[in-house]
Amino acid sequence: MGLDERLLPLRGCLNKRKEKDMALKKELLEILACPKCVRDPECTGELEYREKEEQLICHHCRLVYHVKDDIPVMLIDEASPLT
Ligand SMILES: [Zn+2]
Repeated sequence: MGLDERLLPLRGCLNKRKEKDMALKKELLEILACPKCVRDPECTGELEYREKEEQLICHHCRLVYHVKDDIPVMLIDEASPLT
């Protein structure tokens, strides 16, 4: 019984880590910025994340960045124009 009690917090910790790896991290989204707009002092380069479409949208320069295997492709050359 004493052993089970000690294992419980460990199991919870592992589950939490698994969840974190599966979804695109919120912390990551907060630091992501449009590589084109981030150079513009007038613009924050803030992106809108569309989870269903797996897209990151910059409304400032109207570019759509794609998310491949939960990894955002932050390349202007790889982005598509927002339609
Ligand atoms: Zn932009």
